[in-house]
Order: sequence, then C-alpha cells, then structure tokens
Amino acid sequence: MDIIVQKYGGSSLSDTEKIKFVARRIVETKKKGYKVVVVVSAMGKTTDNLINLAKKINPSLPERELDLLLSTGEMVSVALLCMAIETLGEEAEGFPGYFAGIKTDNFHTKARIQRINPGKIMQELDKDKIVVVAGFQGISSENAITTLGRGGSDLTAIAIAAAIKAKLCEIYTDVEGVFTADPNRVKEARLIKEISYDELLEMASTGAKVMQSRAVEFAKKYKVPFVVKPTFNKKGEGTMVKEMEVKEGADVSSVSIDENQAKITIFRIPDKPGVAAEIFTALGKENINVDMIIQNVSKQHYADVSFTVNINELDKAFELSKKVGEKLGAENIEKDTDICKISIIGVGMMNHPGVAGRMFSALAKVGVNIEMISTSEIKISCIVKKEDGEKALKQVHKEFIENNI
Ligand code: ADP
Ligand code: ASP
Ligand code: MG
Repeated sequence: MDIIVQKYGGSSLSDTEKIKFVARRIVETKKKGYKVVVVVSAMGKTTDNLINLAKKINPSLPERELDLLLSTGEMVSVALLCMAIETLGEEAEGFPGYFAGIKTDNFHTKARIQRINPGKIMQELDKDKIVVVAGFQGISSENAITTLGRGGSDLTAIAIAAAIKAKLCEIYTDVEGVFTADPNRVKEARLIKEISYDELLEMASTGAKVMQSRAVEFAKKYKVPFVVKPTFNKKGEGTMVKEMEVKEGADVSSVSIDENQAKITIFRIPDKPGVAAEIFTALGKENINVDMIIQNVSKQHYADVSFTVNINELDKAFELSKKVGEKLGAENIEKDTDICKISIIGVGMMNHPGVAGRMFSALAKVGVNIEMISTSEIKISCIVKKEDGEKALKQVHKEFIENNI
C-alpha cells in the first residue's frame, strides 16, 4: 500500500470547523487506499502569539526555553486533529517530533535535521492507523526539544516523506498553490502549474513564504516530489514541484518581496586581507546567515562594508559586528531596518541577456532607488526602501509577468 504524507499549515487549522474539515480530507485519502501520515502546524497565529508572550516575560528570548514553548503550539493541533479523526470512525495516533524519531543538531530555534528514525511511524501505519506528527520540532543530542526555523513544518513533512519513501508529499495551504507573486499582494499573480526545485528554492529564500526554503532544499537533495495544494478547494490541483529540464521560454517566472531584512554597515575599516574574513567568520560561528554583502571602493586604504541579515537575527548580528568592528578600529557601526528586498527568479534568465537592465528600468520608472544588488544564475535581487516595496513588487511583476503573455 502506498504512503502519502499530507501537511496542513496553521491557516488551514485556525479554528475547530477547519480542523474538522481537514480530518474529513484525511479520512477520504485513507479510504482511497493509502496509508496516511499527517504533519501539522500550530493553529493560526499561535506561534507568533507564543513569541509575543515570551517577549513580555524575557525580551532576550532564551532559545532553549523558547523552543520548549513554541513546540506546544503544534501539539495542540495534533491532539485536536486526532480527536476529530476519531469522531469519523478512524484510529489516529498523535506524535510529538521526538516520538517520530526526528533527531536534530543543537542549534535552538533553527535546528537542522540530522536523521530520522521512522520506526514508530511505520509500526502505527502497519496497525492501520492514521499517524499525526507535530511539525516544526525535533530532539537534539542533548535530549532538548528543538524547532526547525519558522515555517518548519514544511521541512518535517518533506523529511518524513523521504525517510518513509512516501509516494507523494502534499503541502496543503490557504492559497491555490505557488503563484508568480504572493496572490494576497498582487492580484494579477498567476498560478504556476509546475515548477523546478531550483526556482522554488530561490522564491522561498527571497521571501515567498508559501514553502520554507530549507524544506525545498531537502526535497531537492533527496528528490522528494511534492505538490502545494489548497486545503479548502478539493478540485484545486495546485503546483507540482520536481526536477525539471531547463526549457526555452519566459525569462522570469516569479517575483518576490522580503520585508524581514535588515542592513548593518561597518564604516571605515582597514582595506587589507583578512578583515572581511574576521567579520564574517564571527557571524558564521554564531550561525547567523548573511545574505547580501557589498564593500565600497576603498579610499586611502579604508572601506565601508554593508551586509544584510534576517531581522530576527539583527540584534545578535549587530552586537557581534560592534565587537569585531571596534577591534578593527571601525569609525562607526549602523543598523537599518527600513529596507526590503525585491527579487525576480527564473531559470530562463540564463538564456536571456538584458534582464537586469529591464528590472532596474522598471524600478526607475516608478521612482524607486536601489541600495544594493545581488545576482545568481537564476535570480536578481535589489534592496530598496521599505516604503517602496509594494510599488516595486507590482511594477516588476507587470514588467516581467503581466506584459509577457
Ligand atoms: P501555511 O500556514 O499553510 O504554512 P503560510 O502562511 O506559511 O501557510 O504560506 C502561505 C502564504 O504564502 C500565502 O497565504 C501567501 O500569502 C504567501 N505567499 C507568498 N508568496 C507566495 C507565492 N509566490 N505563491 C503563493 N503564496 C505565496
Ligand atoms: N508554527 C510554525 C511557524 O509558525 C511552523 C510552521 O508553521 O510551519 O513558523
Ligand atoms: Mg508555512
């Protein structure tokens, strides 16, 4: 019998009626002849609310305790969904992440999965039960509960699908699938029928929160095909995500915006070998992801270095930068949260020259100034002022998607 893994996001479980609806979908899948493993997120905005609660008690948010707290959100969903499934006459077995055998490293709040021991999941499936696993959590080698980074239930689902060799992993959410831009912000956005891991990975890591980027990375590495589908539209076919050949065609397939970016600038540091290494090694040791980096042209052997980090890591990154900057004799260190990142993504970009120029012209047309630029083979990102984000997103979408019938 084939196994299907289904993941339901927080927005699909935000009240009891939705939980009952989801339970019916799960039971229908089992009745079609599949073994079903379900991965759930916390109800609605539970995770945000728990973070805010913790901030009121201890603003420094001790990470080990935060993980313990956040893991409770997913447990509520597991218990309620199992109860709902049982009212439909099926047996359900609910698991916290550690019971499902999800072992991680010790980096609290963004732990990485090191291995999965799916023995217990398989045992329960063999007893004809529906298994419901709490997403977003695992257990470290120190036996502490860890979480897998925001949006991490996607990763739980993909990783379990890989470990138990599921036929398919279905990610159910509150939109019809993956669109050319966030459909809640750009009403002209179009549903994408199929997309490659690489493109979705770039989308996810540039702010399209429809999938967690680590989950896509994992799916690509272990070749887990998955589909992003609407929970509440049973006819919706969603977006199929898989390895795809590069085809001739449109240059840009999607546009994204990331408003959780912050910039740090270290002014006037010596322009000599080893300085950049010192700054970024210090950040790397603390597991802080640096996104864009620019260094201006050196004047009299001194240079300014700017880089961006996720806003959640800003305080930590700023403190570290101050320490290293002072050691290097920097004149000043500043942080800026008034920015966002607009990105265009498309494998077709490789074969189409002039894409960057078109993006910059589109931004110029609506008077948007570009502060930083970075490119990869299939992506171009620009940092702009936060207040310009919305119009930049819409204009770039118009230029590359709407005008490209
Ligand atoms: P879930 O609770 O199911 O995990 P999320 O809120 O994490 O759902 O992700 C779904 C949301 O992602 C959508 O409501 C949508 O606003 C947003 N989103 C951003 N970019 C895109 C995109 N390109 N396509 C689809 N949804 C997107
Ligand atoms: N509940 C967690 C979050 O809000 C995990 C998830 O939704 O995937 O980030
Ligand atoms: Mg999500």
